[in-house]
Amino acid sequence: MIIKGFCHPPRSADKLAASVMLLSEGRLQLSTAQGHQVLLLETVNINEPLGRLPIRLSFPDGSQFIPDDSQLLEGVLKARERTWLHRVERNLPAIASSLVLMGLLFALFFTHGIPWLTSGIVKALPQQVPVLVGQHVMQTLDDNVLTPSELSVAQQALIKQRFHTMVAQLPPMPVKPQLHFRRWHARPNALALSDGSIVVFDALVALAKTPEQLDSILLHELGHLHYQHVMKSIVRSSLLSASVAVLTGESTGLVDTYSGAGVFFVTQGYSRKAELEADEFAVKSMFDLYGTTEPMQQMLQLFITPNGIANELPEWMNTHPALETRIERLGE
Ligand SMILES: [Zn+2]
Repeated sequence: MIIKGFCHPPRSADKLAASVMLLSEGRLQLSTAQGHQVLLLETVNINEPLGRLPIRLSFPDGSQFIPDDSQLLEGVLKARERTWLHRVERNLPAIASSLVLMGLLFALFFTHGIPWLTSGIVKALPQQVPVLVGQHVMQTLDDNVLTPSELSVAQQALIKQRFHTMVAQLPPMPVKPQLHFRRWHARPNALALSDGSIVVFDALVALAKTPEQLDSILLHELGHLHYQHVMKSIVRSSLLSASVAVLTGESTGLVDTYSGAGVFFVTQGYSRKAELEADEFAVKSMFDLYGTTEPMQQMLQLFITPNGIANELPEWMNTHPALETRIERLGE
């Protein structure tokens, strides 16, 4: 429908005969004797009529259109608004399902895309990367928290010998396993680094009552090496932080805080899975090497003190399903 009226050109009191017409896709055509101009309706400012004043359209270039019949233009604009709303309503199921689909895609990206990318990247990394990262972490730990082991040379040699005999019977490892002895106060703990280093703390050696019990923990750490969990967790947290930054766009402090928490919980989920994998590796190896998982169960029991409170739990137990569930699982 063509709506007739007049137009004030920019910064001018001239009154030119003009007309406007609403086109499809939210466009509007302004016609004067000088020519046509097509604009997006959203760039046009609609000045609502005040009292007896007519409705006015202000264009980005400063020109203004005033219709002969204010009510006619109002009616046309209102009808357009209604059809737009109507269109949204009619498409609501489609809009809702695209939102659900988008949510699903995000979820899939985090549950499958990130692990897939992580494995790919870790496989493609040159061998020097896990070696350098491992050496750096070891150096940092030595500089800050660890002290030299107080175990006798003979005892260290004996454990190392058992360790290498075990490794020789296991499937080949992506990195060369090496055993190190350190002290970290009285913490019975062991940890695996990306370069193949497994660090055993004196208190763990003291806690184990038999060599097989200590072996079960070493096998758990070897499980981490087998699956390259350390390098994967480093690559994964970088990927997660990068994805969150991309998805949320500009990072405000608030987004940082929440995405930080999100990354933390997602990472916790992944590391619980890593602990289960390392456990399964240890269980299978215990069966292969000793025909039983009993020493592993006994070792886990040793972490529970008589008053029911567990010893300060090592890294791999904090992120773990409850100790009792773990022992039960082994019994099955
Ligand atoms: Zn672990």
